[in-house]
Amino acid sequence: MEMAGPPVGKWQRLGQWLLAHMRQYDVVQGEATMESVRRLRVFALVVLVLNVVYVCLFWLGRDGSGGDLQARYRNAIGWAHFYMGLAMLLLGFLAWRLLRQSERGSYRAIVLQLLACASGMLFAIAVSVIDQMVTSGITPFAIVSLLIAVVSLMRPAMAIPVFGVNYLVFYQVADLTQKDPALLARIRGDALVVSILSLVVSTLVLRQYMGSVLLRREIVRAHQALAEKQAELAFTATHDELTGLYNRREFMRLAVIELSRASRTPGPTCLLMLDIDFFKKINDQHGHPAGDEVLQQVAQLLTKGVRAMDVVARLGGEEFIVLLPNTGRAGASAVAEKLRMTLAQAPLQLQSLALPVTASFGLSELPAGMAGTLEDLYKAADKALYVAKRQGRNRVEFDVAKFDPPSPSFRSLSAGD
Ligand code: GH3
Ligand code: MG
Ligand code: MG
Repeated sequence: MEMAGPPVGKWQRLGQWLLAHMRQYDVVQGEATMESVRRLRVFALVVLVLNVVYVCLFWLGRDGSGGDLQARYRNAIGWAHFYMGLAMLLLGFLAWRLLRQSERGSYRAIVLQLLACASGMLFAIAVSVIDQMVTSGITPFAIVSLLIAVVSLMRPAMAIPVFGVNYLVFYQVADLTQKDPALLARIRGDALVVSILSLVVSTLVLRQYMGSVLLRREIVRAHQALAEKQAELAFTATHDELTGLYNRREFMRLAVIELSRASRTPGPTCLLMLDIDFFKKINDQHGHPAGDEVLQQVAQLLTKGVRAMDVVARLGGEEFIVLLPNTGRAGASAVAEKLRMTLAQAPLQLQSLALPVTASFGLSELPAGMAGTLEDLYKAADKALYVAKRQGRNRVEFDVAKFDPPSPSFRSLSAGD
């Protein structure tokens, strides 16, 4: 019986909704932090250059005109840019080092991101407060707030404290230089609007980034699935479903390539064909599933019994074919005899019964230095197999194909070459 839990209250539901809302950014947290550090690396350099320019303008441009207030103002702005320049140099270096490390601790990256935001905002607050000596605007505060919102990818749980603390600090220190109560109230109001706007922009930017990351992941996933499907299709198109061996078409393609290659090497090439004896009887007496199992076991025996370089395929039905590169008649006969014996010596152990199975083999050879096509080899091996069947089955026969010695202009053996 299902137990009814305690009733879920309104506040609890709100809490759950808030938690789910906050946790939605978890999936991109690591990537967003590292992206912020990457941006910081570039940004620190740009801001550093600007700081140097400002220091030069405000310090070196002092000409004594404008009175004491102007001089103090220029001096203070110069110092603010000087310290900001130092901070950017340090933060840029730390970002560069963090990105070079193979093991990128996200904890250190977040600390660095926060430090960058804090120094940026401290600078903006300082310059805006100094500006009050000569003007009543808070342009630096607004620019830096919005810049941080766009460049530093922060989830709301991080952006709210960042912009909140910035605003409170600005609120507290604004009256150091702004003594006019009306203007003070206005710049505090403006700073509040800017901070809220920055928070909204920051969330929008993060959401857009999250969208692009999730889309990229989806594309990678789809791409992998497609590649797997393609590999699967390629396998199905080239392999026999029941035995896993190459199918007839793929065998012909590979054999043509192999023969063409063999024409440039001094060794002979052999073709072996195998047909299971009285296979129809097996089907009739024990059913097609037993027949299928026999085909699978014979396929395994073939793969195990030949070299890795040999090309093994199921021609169709209960017929198999093997191309033996760099193998002469003696070698191929030995392989065929070994396979025949292995089959004939002991019954195949099927799932429900032990079944004696034999097979007949037909062999043909393309001697070294001779020219011929796959068709010639195939015809000869098939003829040999027919002879093996006629002479009582469970035996290996060989047929000599008629091949031309290569003419000087004949360079390739394959029909398509
Ligand atoms: P022989 O000794 O002269 O080769 O006689 P055989 O019975 O082996 O040859 P035949 O050509 O008369 O029979 C081949 C049988 O193989 C007929 C067909 O139903 C069966 N066969 C073909 N493909 C499959 C398959 O994928 N699974 C099973 N179980 N049987 C198959
Ligand atoms: Mg057959
Ligand atoms: Mg047969």
